[in-house]
Amino acid sequence: MRRVIGVVSGKGGVGKTTFVANVGLAVTGFDEESIVIDADLFTSNLGLQLGLYKSPLGLQDALEGGISVYDIIHTHHSGLKIIPTSMYPSHLFKKTVTPYRLKSLLKDIYSLILIDSPPGLGKEVFFVLKACDEVLVVTNPDIPSVTDAMRVISAARELKKDPINIVVNRVKDDYELKPEEIEMMCDAPVIGEIPEDKMIKRSLFEKTPLIHYSPHSPAAVAFKKIAANILGIDYKPPSLLRLRRIFRKF
Ligand code: ADP
Ligand code: MG
Repeated sequence: MRRVIGVVSGKGGVGKTTFVANVGLAVTGFDEESIVIDADLFTSNLGLQLGLYKSPLGLQDALEGGISVYDIIHTHHSGLKIIPTSMYPSHLFKKTVTPYRLKSLLKDIYSLILIDSPPGLGKEVFFVLKACDEVLVVTNPDIPSVTDAMRVISAARELKKDPINIVVNRVKDDYELKPEEIEMMCDAPVIGEIPEDKMIKRSLFEKTPLIHYSPHSPAAVAFKKIAANILGIDYKPPSLLRLRRIFRKF
């Protein structure tokens, strides 16, 4: 299987990096090969979320040439395969390294590839959009996030990406946009919703993706459902879990 999915948002802080780490790992849990790539070259934190502080080599080295993409793949103890960005200051400030070669770098990797992207609509995001086939837009259910989602969706549409799907993260209460409203505003389908979940903060502290740290927490179940949806397979949360959620309401 070879699928390249660009995870974008427009607005920063909506949950792209958390999404990429967890859905990447959930895909692996469904016995499919997956690899996550940190293409957020200047404000990267996918590696940080996984405790990879000192990666001597990263995506920038492969982008500059001379180093094979296979030499920069790390395997996290959870089983997640990741291409991090190098955290070396010389790389972080080298603005000449751009992801324009990203597409050709990935052409030999046969797995489901999830690319974590920077916020905004600058050239780094443009190269992520160029490198991917499919686009997944992560948004929060509020007007500023959805407005930025609309912008990135129209850029993806101009580049003829297909499909373009939406995931709504940090769903909490009634005082926010509903999936149907987001679909209408963006003219693209919402394929999943992830609830606000305090366990995410704890899993970040432990540098372990939520679905390993707390596999039955509401957001972990949502990540697994979305991974199954992406793979086109059935996933039913354990029934005990559903009962627990029903009883929590009383
Ligand atoms: P982005 O990559 O889009 O900038 P991050 O994945 O870094 O966003 O997430 C931003 C912050 O939001 C992080 O502190 C993360 O822990 C928190 N967060 C993300 N999703 C959720 C959620 N479903 N529930 C609670 N906190 C979340
Ligand atoms: Mg991020």
